[in-house]
Amino acid sequence: MNEAPCPKCESLLQLYLDGELNESEAREAEAHLDGCGYCRRQYRFERAFRAYLRKTLCEEPMSAELKVKLTALRSDASPGDCL
Ligand SMILES: [Zn+2]
Repeated sequence: MNEAPCPKCESLLQLYLDGELNESEAREAEAHLDGCGYCRRQYRFERAFRAYLRKTLCEEPMSAELKVKLTALRSDASPGDCL
């Protein structure tokens, strides 16, 4: 198994997480995740992070300060994501 950083598929992974791949591209990404430990870890982390952000932004009362921090952390996350 190749454990080296895999910058080539990082963009593919982001698109996969965003659900922007077509069916065959998504299959390709899944096959790659099966064989690439680095991307699998990245994927798990990103997915957990996004789930956490969504939960935090949508379900839990939060100080404006924390909201700003979280939003700054990931510019693509905003309270609008849960609508
Ligand atoms: Zn990879």
